[in-house]
Amino acid sequence: AERPGGTSETAALRVLRKVFGYDAFRGQQEAVIDHVVAGGDAVVLMPTGGGKSLCYQIPALVRRGTGVVISPLIALMQDQVDALKALGVRAGFLNSTLDLDQRRVVEAEFLAGELDLLYIAPERLRLETTTALLERAEVSVFAIDEAHCVAQWGHDFRPDYLNLSMLGERWPDVPRIALTATATRATHQEIVQRLGLPAARDFVASFDRPNIQYRIVPKRDPRKQLLRFLKEEHEGDAGIVYCLSRNAVERTAEFLCANGVEAVPYHAGLDAGTRAAHQARFLREDGLVVVATIAFGMGIDKPDVRFVAHLDLPKSVEGYYQETGRAGRDGQPSHAWLAYGLQDVVQQRKLIESGEGDPAFQRRARSHLDAMLSLCETVRCRRGQLLAYFGQEPAEGAAELSCGNCDTCLSPPESWDGTVPAQKVLSTVVRLKRERGQKFGSGQLVDILLGRRTAKVIQFDHDGLSVFGIGTELAEGEWRSVIRQLIAQGLLEIEGEHGTLVLTDASATVLRAEREVRMRKDPAPARSRAAGSAG
Ligand code: ADP
Ligand code: ZN
Repeated sequence: AERPGGTSETAALRVLRKVFGYDAFRGQQEAVIDHVVAGGDAVVLMPTGGGKSLCYQIPALVRRGTGVVISPLIALMQDQVDALKALGVRAGFLNSTLDLDQRRVVEAEFLAGELDLLYIAPERLRLETTTALLERAEVSVFAIDEAHCVAQWGHDFRPDYLNLSMLGERWPDVPRIALTATATRATHQEIVQRLGLPAARDFVASFDRPNIQYRIVPKRDPRKQLLRFLKEEHEGDAGIVYCLSRNAVERTAEFLCANGVEAVPYHAGLDAGTRAAHQARFLREDGLVVVATIAFGMGIDKPDVRFVAHLDLPKSVEGYYQETGRAGRDGQPSHAWLAYGLQDVVQQRKLIESGEGDPAFQRRARSHLDAMLSLCETVRCRRGQLLAYFGQEPAEGAAELSCGNCDTCLSPPESWDGTVPAQKVLSTVVRLKRERGQKFGSGQLVDILLGRRTAKVIQFDHDGLSVFGIGTELAEGEWRSVIRQLIAQGLLEIEGEHGTLVLTDASATVLRAEREVRMRKDPAPARSRAAGSAG
């Protein structure tokens, strides 16, 4: 317990300086810590890198007893505990990686009051042996990390989190602090409700990451586009490239290496030793690129990640924000770069439809994907749209935010009247459905519009349709852009396991020429440097 000292320095500030070696609190850290030290409950929404850990670590050190941290990131516990021990903090963890003897040692330390912090995996709290253990010694604070995992409407739901509401019932006098970097209003509400924290004080930090420049480009030849981006803007920089599949991770890492970029793969199919080695190299070296599935990056604290690139569309805006948030924690200029195409949308819709999960789950997954798509197709400031998605106001009350540091602000997309092309697409969809009773995806649609006699077009007599060849004024890539934007605007929908295109209720107004459809013009593909200098 802290005794009042002779100076005006609070106990919390003293711990910040003496134990962690920092001069001052950041943002809302001090307010959160004061509130929790005084015994209050708190819900903390702070972006990645915002400094959430100190918000519970310092109360745990200032208050009597052991701070219990519930975290799903089992793989990181050892590192977190080692880092704390290096600072002289008495810390331990309990999870499935410990053998019986190791577990007994930690339990004994806890019971003897020799731990300042104890990290626990959420599934352990289902066991009566664990809760009984916690009841036999003094707990100073419960910290529920990655608290968005309790949200069934969120993107990272973990059933074990639902059980955590019992903490408030069994330990009504111990303050609880829930922390997350995901902050839509819906998730926030679910955290408060499902963890039983109605009286908790909310601390909501700004989610803006001003030093990250957002850029979203249409996918043409993704690996080459990526290579060009790296060569031109990130030579020798550390960064993360996300791909959806393990296979794509492997091939992309090989491609980068073959083209002079030092890159290593990271995915759940690699053995633990290789993964650990690649992660360690990434943390240690200056300019390594990690090509990874989203399994990589949770809790990784490398301040000088200069770019995060996505070669496939993230499943949700939350995921995109979290992944891109790993760039530029040091506050220096960084890039969030994403290449996406119609095929991404089709593929993800198929995954949702064919995947497990009840109808409510699928509806949720679809609406997450729709929000992501609309971020990609927006003509507005990307940052403005991101912040709006998280229910936050653009900075300084600007009516229509123009951040000056995203692609749409830096080179505003031209818009064009896409009404006629939209009508052509929609009427082709109508005919495919009416006349054949068959199901076709976007590829077949584009072939028909362009008047291509492919085997599949001939097989289904699509060259006999009245719409066959009515779309030669646009190129294939432009048609794909039109289809993407119709989906993003809710005028067309992808359905079923086959990625069939179907009309929506709103489509009729376009077919009846009752409304105009504005489209975003994709930026022209950048000309290669060689071609430019040759001329
Ligand atoms: P989060 O959990 O919100 O992603 P962390 O708690 O890991 O963020 O903190 C991010 C980084 O900022 C860490 O390297 C941490 O040591 C550092 N940090 C946190 N608070 C402060 C502070 N008050 N002064 C200086 N550095 C800080
Ligand atoms: Zn902007």
